[in-house]
Amino acid sequence: MKLENFPIEIQPYLIPKETGRLIYRCLGCGGEHPIKKLLYTCPDCGQVLLIYDSDFSRLKKIPGDLWHKIFDFRRMLTIPALKGIYRYHEFIGSVIPLKSIIYLGEGHTPIIEANSILQEMAGVKFYYKNDGQNPSASFKDRGMASALTYIQYLIQNNIVSDVLAICASTGDTSAAAALYASYMNPHVTSAVILPHKKVTPQQLSQPLGSGAAVFEIPGVFDDCMKVVEALSEKYNVALLNSKNAWRILGQESFSYEIAQDLEYELEKTAVIVPIGNAGNITAVISGFLKFFEAGIIPALPKIIGVQSEHANPVYQYYLEPDRHKRKFVPMAVKPSVAQAAMIGNPVSMPRVIHLANEYNKKAGEKCTFFVEVTEQDIMDWELRANQNGHIACTHGGETLAGLVKARQLGIVHADDVAVIDSTAHMLKFSGFQEMYFENRFPAEFNISPNPELINTPTFVRPKDLADIPLPGKPLAGAKLDKFVQRVSEDIANILELKEV
Ligand SMILES: *Cc1c(COP(=O)(O)O)cnc(C)c1O
Ligand SMILES: [Zn+2]
Repeated sequence: MKLENFPIEIQPYLIPKETGRLIYRCLGCGGEHPIKKLLYTCPDCGQVLLIYDSDFSRLKKIPGDLWHKIFDFRRMLTIPALKGIYRYHEFIGSVIPLKSIIYLGEGHTPIIEANSILQEMAGVKFYYKNDGQNPSASFKDRGMASALTYIQYLIQNNIVSDVLAICASTGDTSAAAALYASYMNPHVTSAVILPHKKVTPQQLSQPLGSGAAVFEIPGVFDDCMKVVEALSEKYNVALLNSKNAWRILGQESFSYEIAQDLEYELEKTAVIVPIGNAGNITAVISGFLKFFEAGIIPALPKIIGVQSEHANPVYQYYLEPDRHKRKFVPMAVKPSVAQAAMIGNPVSMPRVIHLANEYNKKAGEKCTFFVEVTEQDIMDWELRANQNGHIACTHGGETLAGLVKARQLGIVHADDVAVIDSTAHMLKFSGFQEMYFENRFPAEFNISPNPELINTPTFVRPKDLADIPLPGKPLAGAKLDKFVQRVSEDIANILELKEV
């Protein structure tokens, strides 16, 4: 709809202006630094940063119900810059002009209510939020849209030129980084560093297809991250991992969309996300906090982070109930089907510790929880979900397993509503489904297929048939009729079909 056709009183709010004062704030020493430069860590103490708006209080002057109208009416605009995560411009990158915004179709992924069979199994009403329906098929596109928009802004202001963007990845970060960088060809090129044989073939094909320089090294993600950190400290490159606080800003849109799609009523709601490098849960907590502080949502939802037993350093940290006695210990990870979350030393841990504490304080009670699940449960719940109409990846299986666990532990109640994150599309991780169906998981995964969930193709080749179609040699006439008749008979027998 064109701007002039909206109600007159909403028109001044619909096209966001460049407002606010964004700054990097250090979570270690509290130091603040201007955003004129791309910083990853505090120049004074080396800690990770978050981006804050030091003029945030101006956003509180707009009443909550007016914000609801602004976001709801913005849905109807056809301006590309406002069709994705920047619908929430004031909360994501308020100083960025619309002409800098990169939009490739990210965000506004659907929330899909589970059918009654699945809700009964989980013991609670729940929705999947399908972040696999982003352009590179994972939620990472949200953060990449924000990080590359910021780079575009720096380029347009002649602060940088010819950017080489780099990242370490468990597969999806590199797919997203390479996609967004390629859109900014020739001003931005990308290089990605992957752990050899620890990303799926689909994920490897993505940065290759986007034209990135792809490097595979021995080890796991944590090793790749060290290499990328060394490169970004010594050379003139732009780091696109979630250490980059601009990634976090973009990923906050996940929370804003849940708020909007649930009519801003989040009391008795639980939001469940997997944790790897902990950038996602950082953003989800931060997003809800900002909407709460601005008076857009009157209540904070419960947030539940899920980890596999094979990569659970965040879960381990929170096992200690006394906040002051907790101590973070990085761990050596074991193989996990939730491969994008196979991280033993999450870069965003200080952010999680800081924000979870703030969150619980603002909520007035404990509202952040951490649960662990088995590899077996992750696979079983992914398959159950997808046999009931979903497109969950293994991490989507992990969040459903986490929901079931949280119900058992009494964290989620029968009258709550849960929104669980399927962080990527199931097709990216179809190899694990294959291993399950063919019972060839290596022992260290600890997964034995449940026969009820196995599904394999049946090869139909009637023994009594002399002639079958072969490449370049199709059948015709009576031979084709015979073939069709015998094959359909066999299929009908297997399916126990009745004649009409
Ligand atoms: C990156 C990723 C995760 C983990 O997110 P973090 O921000 O690293 O905690 C989970 N699932 C998928 C599919 C991912 O790509
Ligand atoms: Zn500092």
